[in-house]
Amino acid sequence: MKTQVAIVGAGPSGLLLGQLLHLQGIDTVILEAKSPEYVLSRIRAGVLEQGAVDLLREAGAGARMDREGHVHEGFTIAFAGRRERIDLKSLTNGKTVMVYGQTEVTRDLMNARKESGALSIYEAHDVQLHDFYGDKPRVSFVKDGEAIELECDYIAGCDGFHGISRKSVPESAIRNFERVYPFGWLGVLSHTPPVTPELIYANHDRGFALCSMRSDNLSRYYVQVTHEDKVEDWSDERFWNELRKRLPEDVAASLVTGPSIEKSIAPLRSFVAEPMKFGRLFLVGDAAHIVPPTGAKGLNLAASDVYTLYHLLRKAYHDGRSDLLDRYSEICLRRIWKAERFSWWMTTLLHKLSDDPFGQRMQLADLDYFTGSLAGRTTIAENYVGLPYERIE
Ligand code: FAD
Repeated sequence: MKTQVAIVGAGPSGLLLGQLLHLQGIDTVILEAKSPEYVLSRIRAGVLEQGAVDLLREAGAGARMDREGHVHEGFTIAFAGRRERIDLKSLTNGKTVMVYGQTEVTRDLMNARKESGALSIYEAHDVQLHDFYGDKPRVSFVKDGEAIELECDYIAGCDGFHGISRKSVPESAIRNFERVYPFGWLGVLSHTPPVTPELIYANHDRGFALCSMRSDNLSRYYVQVTHEDKVEDWSDERFWNELRKRLPEDVAASLVTGPSIEKSIAPLRSFVAEPMKFGRLFLVGDAAHIVPPTGAKGLNLAASDVYTLYHLLRKAYHDGRSDLLDRYSEICLRRIWKAERFSWWMTTLLHKLSDDPFGQRMQLADLDYFTGSLAGRTTIAENYVGLPYERIE
């Protein structure tokens, strides 16, 4: 079996890259370990930056997002009994974000791929990467008990944090940077109307809380929990009571609760692998970096990596400029580290880090300072809507 670009992983990174390359006449095969149903059952991100929105449209997978997604022009930070709105649109010269669930993004990309006729192989087991430092890389895998080899020009490792691509790189060739936070997010999805039309990020003595949403009747709420907390310890009633305590009183009073349709605890981690290119292997999205979800950056960073790799591969195939591929890591990492910084900063600003009263006062002073000045609000807004993509000349 042969292709031009072998893509490992059919999450948002792999599917988006595959679709963009297909539209440029570049052949791809996507290998995914799980079934399509399993991939679609994962409840994850919900806030898309303008850059990700534009890229989905360019990939021909933006029509439903444009119909059903919700454009948000601002969000609120609640702390010390105050509520401060960050007016994204006015602070960034008209930029906004789109609230549209990752599951729906994935579904739209899967449908676009199906329509394009390009090959995706789900439940591809024992995927292994070979010879990516040479001119003729290969990916081997097992499908329905049959061992198959896929020859290719390049491999895109889009297989997430726990995937095989990053693990295939020799230890001496890669450097990992990591911070694991001493808390996680307990998330609940419910068929209830969102408590407010925009997101609320709450800093509270009892811990962080977030009110988010996927649609007019689908809400996603989170509370900060410890590493020791287990989902089984959190009945729906306990969750709703705790969430109410962490929200401003009038918001808590109007919260509509209902049975959870999904409940899970996600650990919080910052992680970056450097570099992101190893011969003819490119790491893309969560395979190369993780952010705590506080800044809504995970999926968006995956999209900006895809943007960079897509344009570099286009130059390589159409203009014979394969030399430009060497710039992949450098271009991606410049933006990634800034998004890592913002996600880390939002996390340390909004979560209960310890019982240290001095630290808590510092957080409140930071929140007061940043939300109280035009420069501070602008800094938050321009990071939240997403820093610009670097153009590939
Ligand atoms: P993934 O979505 O992880 O996709 C990788 C794919 O590769 C998967 O389908 C996997 O099955 C497949 N795969 C793995 N190993 C192999 C293998 N060996 N062979 C073949 N295929 C393989 N981001 C936000 O911006 N906001 C949020 O609120 C948010 N919440 C999150 C909540 C959770 C619980 C998690 C885990 C992540 C969250 N994220 C959030 C991050 C966001 O979901 C990711 O950044 C995004 O999914 C990255 O996309 P990806 O395609 O790079 O990786």
